[in-house]
Amino acid sequence: MNSKDFTEPLGGVITWNINTACNYRCSYCTQRHLKDRTRRGGEIEAFLRAFAQLPGIWEIKLSGGEPFLHPKLDELVAGIVSLGHYVSIVSNFSANISRLSSFLEATGDHLKVFSISLHREYVNTELALLEFTNKINWLQSHIPIRSSVNVTCVATRDNLPHLVSLHNWFMSHKITFKIQPEKQDREVIKYSPEEELLLKRLGGHNQLQEIAFNFKGRLCWAGSRYFTLDDRGDAWRCYPARRYRKEYLGNILKGSLQLFDTPRPCLYNYCNCTVPIERRMMFVKE
Ligand code: SF4
Ligand code: SF4
Repeated sequence: MNSKDFTEPLGGVITWNINTACNYRCSYCTQRHLKDRTRRGGEIEAFLRAFAQLPGIWEIKLSGGEPFLHPKLDELVAGIVSLGHYVSIVSNFSANISRLSSFLEATGDHLKVFSISLHREYVNTELALLEFTNKINWLQSHIPIRSSVNVTCVATRDNLPHLVSLHNWFMSHKITFKIQPEKQDREVIKYSPEEELLLKRLGGHNQLQEIAFNFKGRLCWAGSRYFTLDDRGDAWRCYPARRYRKEYLGNILKGSLQLFDTPRPCLYNYCNCTVPIERRMMFVKE
């Protein structure tokens, strides 16, 4: 086998959009076309019962919308932790220190990654950036030793001229900075060769060294050791599967979730799934 050996121990990662509500309206948001951007989540007991049935220990990555708008976020993460699973979160970081503190208390030493999205349309002055950075430094000093924090920024045309100085700014504050290519209509926007060079110099998509990946035809463990979940309990193999409404894995709340037993060929031209790429879930081509 040329991919990571996933035979033992069991376990995996879920990327879960726990709500659609967000207090921001970024112009490039990939969710801006959703019909309903007001769902705040709330039903947690049935999700927790379903997570209790997962084989092994899982990392559950919470995103939204904005997950800190979920009315029962702390109860939810405390429930996940009580099952022995781990929690990561992606947030626009608009929550105040008191809200962040109660989240950290609920996750305890089961917090893995706190990923902070920098949205320059909202953090739009030098003072706002300084306050944003100071709050991140506060977070770094309050997370467990094995947890990590990073900042991501979408490489929109407006953001491109600022990425190098942002990278240097966050480096100087000992904060990991990652860029994410902008997507329109399901695909990465067309960057010029110079822009591509810049994005690669900054580490590529989420520091994975490339701007866009294509693993079509390769065997991949997504669907078995990784899946995406929405706030209504619907599960798909990965983000491209969800975008194209293929490889539906069932509804976790209705008890119909069925994970694959084995790796299966990738059906998609563009893979933007950081978790499977980072964990080398797809086989290396011979
Ligand atoms: S913060 Fe995230 S979810 Fe909210 S509008 Fe911006 S990109 Fe979309
Ligand atoms: S798009 Fe990525 S995560 Fe999804 S099946 Fe293909 S390689 Fe795996």
